[in-house]
Amino acid sequence: MLLEVSRLEAFYGALQALFGVDLAVDDGEVVALLGRNGMGKTTTICSILGLLRSRSGSVRFDGTETSRLPAHRIARLGMGLAPEGRRCFPNLTVRENLVAAARPGTWTPARVAALFPQLEERRDQYANTLSGGEQQMLAIGRALMTNPKLLILDEATEGLAPLIRQDIWAAIRRLKAGGQSILVVDKALAELLPIADRAFVLEKGVTVWRGRPDELTAQLQDRYLGV
Ligand code: ATP
Repeated sequence: MLLEVSRLEAFYGALQALFGVDLAVDDGEVVALLGRNGMGKTTTICSILGLLRSRSGSVRFDGTETSRLPAHRIARLGMGLAPEGRRCFPNLTVRENLVAAARPGTWTPARVAALFPQLEERRDQYANTLSGGEQQMLAIGRALMTNPKLLILDEATEGLAPLIRQDIWAAIRRLKAGGQSILVVDKALAELLPIADRAFVLEKGVTVWRGRPDELTAQLQDRYLGV
């Protein structure tokens, strides 16, 4: 396993948000992390990355127990996050954002441009002048520039226009075809489930279901993910 999370608990001050999250991603897999709003998906990602320090349980990444390591050490082991809200440096250009994120490896601005041609047209624009969809492409591009063993996408297409969403999903499919391991949080089950190798469902900070996406029946979707 590339990533193996077991019995993860996490706290915001005195408030416990995760009570036992299990999650696993194998090399080359796309894994869907699902759950209604507020069930703990972002908290799980922040805990895995060490961004939330008050945590316990086990996180093994690429053979290393990371649950007690600080965030910068964990990132260096090879996790790249495109965060919810797609934060980029607003006063840097597209190109500068990509270069600023670079770590040694095969990803270059040219390779990001091949994945997201729209971004190439905007290469000299400041990030704060991009559309939401372009900012998300840039956020994914920045994460890729770190040459991550595991790419983590939190709310990959949330709030984006339908056409741009399709571009993002197409890019994710291409990354998967290239062997990239990806952990994805998104509510667009129709797009996410067909490309996912496995899925995990959170409810109130606990993994309540895990399995193959085709086993997540309409009834289960309604029970765990319905509004
Ligand atoms: P969403 O899809 O809405 O982002 P989520 O599944 O990612 O939901 P989290 O954001 O991880 O859920 O939230 C899990 C729980 O932790 C919620 O009860 C939320 O209110 C709480 N929480 C999240 N961030 C904080 C914070 N900074 N301080 C205190 N509580 C928080």
